[in-house]
Amino acid sequence: MKEIGLLTDWPKMTSRALPRLDEDDRLTPILTHLSNNFTTPDASYSASATALPGADISARNVDILSSSFPLCMQNLHRSLRRDAHLKHFGRLQYTLFLKGIGLNLEECLVFWRSSFSKITDDTFNKEYRYNVRHAYGDVGGDSNRRGNGYSPFSCQKILTERPPGPGEAHGCPYRHFSVENLVGLLNAVGVKDQEVIRGVKEDKEKMKFHLACNRSVPPFPYLLPFPAHFPPLIPSRELLEQGLTENRVFEYAHKQEIKKVKDDGTWGAAQLETIVHPNEYFKRSYLLKNLGKNPVDGEGEKGDVKMED
Ligand code: SF4
Repeated sequence: MKEIGLLTDWPKMTSRALPRLDEDDRLTPILTHLSNNFTTPDASYSASATALPGADISARNVDILSSSFPLCMQNLHRSLRRDAHLKHFGRLQYTLFLKGIGLNLEECLVFWRSSFSKITDDTFNKEYRYNVRHAYGDVGGDSNRRGNGYSPFSCQKILTERPPGPGEAHGCPYRHFSVENLVGLLNAVGVKDQEVIRGVKEDKEKMKFHLACNRSVPPFPYLLPFPAHFPPLIPSRELLEQGLTENRVFEYAHKQEIKKVKDDGTWGAAQLETIVHPNEYFKRSYLLKNLGKNPVDGEGEKGDVKMED
């Protein structure tokens, strides 16, 4: 456990060590940036990597699929169902996530139109339709269309950019909610275990928001090219294995299934490694909840979201 502390506190320790590193001016801005912004590694998104062949990814099935969504997306879904509306950044974060789980443009438009049940078709078409099409790259400039629109947001992006204001539901509840509201939301989605709640509160207090959702091993210490006078912290095999399998809320919510795939050896370490993207959270959760029913079972290594360092 001591090693975990060393690793997770690495950015802070690095920041404190900066005065002693003044012999290398080039290092300072890089380390300061990492220290200030360290939450989770950013991850790229690949539609083919998160596809779930055979799954019913349709507008009518989103309510059922939402049980496999991470807390940020469950919050958006619940807000949408409660208010029949979401503000701009909530729509954007949620649209891109839905695009990432494999909801096609036509189904996504059906989903938003039916969800915004208090407005007319005319209002929907004038005020909301274009933005959904733009997110999918169906309209807009050449580069938007060539690039198939925007990529679903990673945890890093959600945690660090555009905090939600009053009446907005985007962002990450572990970071942007008060402790009371976070516990209330966790209870509402079925996470009531006092040990888990206590751990989440501790993670939040220490500003380890991502660990509350998914315990992670920071990749930077052994990937950055460190100068000789600043030795890298190399995680031990035990720590890596612990990091690969320790999750807070995710592990609690999938306790039985994770035990099963570990016991029968059907999932390897690569399929249980740290989640750093909401769409990967969904894919892994969906596969675990549908063990034995989905054709992509056992192909996790091939199908994992490609991560960028
Ligand atoms: Fe969503 Fe990532 Fe926050 Fe989990 S850590 S709730 S997946 S943004």
